[in-house]
Amino acid sequence: MGVNPQLKISTNPKTVTVLGATGSVGCNTVDLIERTPEHFQVIALTANTNVALLAQQARTLGAEIAVVADEGCYGSLKDALSGSGIEAAAGEQAIADAAQRPTDIIMAGIVGAAGLEPALTAVRRGATIGLANKECLVAAGDLFMAEVKAHKATLLPVDSEHNAIYQVFDFEHPHRVEKIILTASGGPFRTSSKQQMEAATVEQALAHPVWKMGTKISIDSATMMNKGLELIEAYYLFPVELDQIEILVHPQSVIHSMVGYVDGSVLAQLGSPDMRTPISYALAWPDRIETPSPRLDLADIATLTFEAPDMERFPALKLARESLRAGGCRPCVLNAANEIAVQEFLDGNIGFLDITRVEEQVLADSDVRPVNSLEDVHEADRDARRKTSALIKSQFMGR
Ligand code: NDP
Repeated sequence: MGVNPQLKISTNPKTVTVLGATGSVGCNTVDLIERTPEHFQVIALTANTNVALLAQQARTLGAEIAVVADEGCYGSLKDALSGSGIEAAAGEQAIADAAQRPTDIIMAGIVGAAGLEPALTAVRRGATIGLANKECLVAAGDLFMAEVKAHKATLLPVDSEHNAIYQVFDFEHPHRVEKIILTASGGPFRTSSKQQMEAATVEQALAHPVWKMGTKISIDSATMMNKGLELIEAYYLFPVELDQIEILVHPQSVIHSMVGYVDGSVLAQLGSPDMRTPISYALAWPDRIETPSPRLDLADIATLTFEAPDMERFPALKLARESLRAGGCRPCVLNAANEIAVQEFLDGNIGFLDITRVEEQVLADSDVRPVNSLEDVHEADRDARRKTSALIKSQFMGR
């Protein structure tokens, strides 16, 4: 596809850092940058352990620095970058330092609560952030948003649903908004019986019918915890009350979400299910750039369907709503328990439906403690991880 000169970003190339460059969101971001190198100048790229891909991306994009979180990977990263002039660094602090470097835009594409500190570092320098890492809002929403406000940072939602809402939400007149309708594909078990879900394999759970994503979010989509986390994310990103956020299953994932107004109008953003569209929105904001995303052919699709979510087969939705309503450390506990339970399922230690059973039990056994500082968040996160692992070991493994 040729580049339409009318759509070129008019200013100098934007400086950009990609946190989690080797992941699904990261690779899509890198893909877009590679296609229009004249628009972007890459400052930092980060990963956890995937040295080979990170070094290759850094060389291709001419990054200033490449960083791995795992300090044990430093030597191999340095070797992989030798002769390139690209700096190598390792460790959690080095990731935060990379987020600290000034850029026009930073993509927060790390998975899980590990993404919180680097995203916060970017917030504290007043950055413009493409936010894919929803777990940081789930684990520390109140604190995170207070920092966004204090440092005048700009959050551009990259999650396709939140990006859709961002595009159609009347921020000037939020009182005109009646509700947000978050759409959900329903995941691979939308039509499965509870019995089938009980016996679901890792392979089946990872086989998302529409989206190709990282492992953790794919399992979250199968349990629908992803939509639960997105509910919490939407609550923090948009000026609405919890009761104004509805979830609607829409298997084709063409309508990425909707905003209902007081006069009965419903505004939606549509597109093919390709993350490069919302990622490009954040990268180019407030401009737009062309993407190779398949164009929507509604005549070909012909039918769009909708259904209410099944709260019985997907209790994660209720857990998320209740956790947010309870407040304090509750969403953080849910997030931490979910990260551990998902990993245990992937490792073959618990069954698919055990994921939400474990979370339910951890929440039931945890107090609602207030969260006043980042240390409170870390403590709640650590506690919940410890509790979840112990519970799985004592009651779920080998059942
Ligand atoms: P992936 O698992 O594909 O990638 C995760 C990235 O984070 C990788 O670069 C990985 O490095 C890095 N990483 C993992 N653990 C750590 C750590 N402890 N410290 C630093 N970096 C780490 O995830 P996704 O791209 O699927 O998801 C990223 C985020 O975006 C998630 O929060 C997800 O919910 C959200 N999101 C994803 C969508 C998608 O389409 N994938 C859609 C909407 C939201 P390495 O490769 O070395 O392991």
